[in-house]
Amino acid sequence: MKKGVFCQTCSSPLAYQTRYFLHCPFCQTTNPVDIAILQAVKELRTLFPEEKITTLKIHDWTGKIVSKPRIRQILKNHFIRQGHGKYSYYMEKKITFNKELNTVLSSNIYGVLPEDDDM
Ligand SMILES: [Zn+2]
Repeated sequence: MKKGVFCQTCSSPLAYQTRYFLHCPFCQTTNPVDIAILQAVKELRTLFPEEKITTLKIHDWTGKIVSKPRIRQILKNHFIRQGHGKYSYYMEKKITFNKELNTVLSSNIYGVLPEDDDM
């Protein structure tokens, strides 16, 4: 079980956040928050495919080291929100999550993805 967020380089748990990056205390790599969060979502979905993706769940899953508003923003960028308020959760956009994540990881672009191109 891989709960938490992990370094892209050495897979150590990340513990410290600045606005856009999570710093690895072991290899000193800076990991973009977006990618770390998306990776955590991917882990969660691999382990629990039926789980609904919510801000609170991801916040908890990632050990609460990234703020809820930041997680909400990342989820909003990459997923479509279903429902309202307390009962809302996130669905993958038309483009599949894995494909999108792979694009993010391989192109090494972080922060902003082309949003809603397919809508
Ligand atoms: Zn590291």
